[in-house]
Amino acid sequence: MKQNWQAVIGLEIHVQLNTKSKLFCGCESNYEKNKPTNTTVCPVCTGQPGALPVLNEDAVKLSVKAALSLNCKINHQSVFARKNYFYPDLPKGYQITQHDKPLAEFGYVEILTDEGQKKKINITRAHMEEDAGKSMHKNEHSLIDYNRSSMPLLEIVSEPDINSSVEAYNYLTVLKEMLIWTGISNCDMEKGELRVDVNVSLKEPKAKELGVKVEIKNLNSFRAVKDALVHEIKRQSDLLDRGEKIFQETRLWEDETGNTHAMRGKEEAKDYRYFPEPDLKPLVLEEHYINDVKKTLPEFAHQKQARFEKQYKLSDYDAKLLTINSNTADYFEEVMKCKVQSKNAANWIGSDILGKVNEHKISILDIPINPKNLAELIKFVEGGTISIKQAREVFEKMWQSSKPAKDIIEKHGFSQLSDEGQLETWAKEAIKGNPKAVEDIKRGNQKAVGALVGYVMKQSKGKANPGVVNKVFAKLLSKE
Ligand SMILES: [Zn+2]
Repeated sequence: MKQNWQAVIGLEIHVQLNTKSKLFCGCESNYEKNKPTNTTVCPVCTGQPGALPVLNEDAVKLSVKAALSLNCKINHQSVFARKNYFYPDLPKGYQITQHDKPLAEFGYVEILTDEGQKKKINITRAHMEEDAGKSMHKNEHSLIDYNRSSMPLLEIVSEPDINSSVEAYNYLTVLKEMLIWTGISNCDMEKGELRVDVNVSLKEPKAKELGVKVEIKNLNSFRAVKDALVHEIKRQSDLLDRGEKIFQETRLWEDETGNTHAMRGKEEAKDYRYFPEPDLKPLVLEEHYINDVKKTLPEFAHQKQARFEKQYKLSDYDAKLLTINSNTADYFEEVMKCKVQSKNAANWIGSDILGKVNEHKISILDIPINPKNLAELIKFVEGGTISIKQAREVFEKMWQSSKPAKDIIEKHGFSQLSDEGQLETWAKEAIKGNPKAVEDIKRGNQKAVGALVGYVMKQSKGKANPGVVNKVFAKLLSKE
């Protein structure tokens, strides 16, 4: 009989910090913007003799901001260390990172499990380090671009608290949203701004001791993380079922084949001969500095969502949709300043505005309808000046012309007929011409009123205000 194994997963994430310059020199950091190879480099980031590193303060600030967002404890003193190894993309022969004393520790984030339950994933540590250059292999040649050398990274290491591929995926999603929301990183995986390595082992569900862990690298998308985990969990459980052993090793994921293969045996920390970086002093962060950074933290999406539900009495669904990013949330709040009904604002933004934004692949910041103009349109519907159907046409014209709703309604003669006298005349005609429908209504079939309303709508060429029409019929039929 096959054993039911439990997967134990930990994630190591490298995010590239959104700074203007590199971690220890003044070189421009936006290497991904098609800068010619080896042009954003200097003696410091290419490891020339005598060049000394100077820590980038912005990188520190963003790292502290990220660590606080991850509910970490910030260490008042952290230490940079040299991680020694040879590779052509590492010109100094060592990487400056943090080892014994990282910037931050003991954090957590909340994610959803496979069953949709909330679960805490603990963060072991978050530390700063520099990136390496980039090797490119062409035919028998290897080329190196040092533009990426010494770019600022934050490494975020989770505890092995994750138990499924779905949880890993959800954890990454929460983290990515947070890092983008706070402006810490763009997290574009295609550009290598977010890189993920996973550790996975299996154990018997009740066992305290962890199994032998395997590291998987080369995961270029969240999809790949999920697929690689499903594949690796299956591979390990097949081995264990057959009574075979798992080797501690690093495996590479191949997107094309959906397979992993062994890359190398796992090296250990001692292999890197870590020692404190002699060219950089320990990083000392005072309490007041940490507090100042704390003040710059924005309201997070989940906090905003909870506030929207309460403050604007929105459903869970609407609040989630409106807090999909901070710009959409801001747009909604601007519309709400004009005192429209929140449900109406949520509907217009959730379907019409976001529909257009997705269709045209633009930011809500660049749309031709500003919040004030949308609010005005909503008010015309709420006040009964135009029907919802007409409002959709006005909306289209607003999108094309950027003009306010009022101008379009006047120019195109959009208006809703709410004149009770005229509507009553047509309603009486409808009653007279449809005795069967009137009979049905008297027998309690309220749906029959549709035929009568239809007549009035036809006479008014669709401009009759449905609310007023229903009111008129209710009055007339009660007298019948
Ligand atoms: Zn440089």
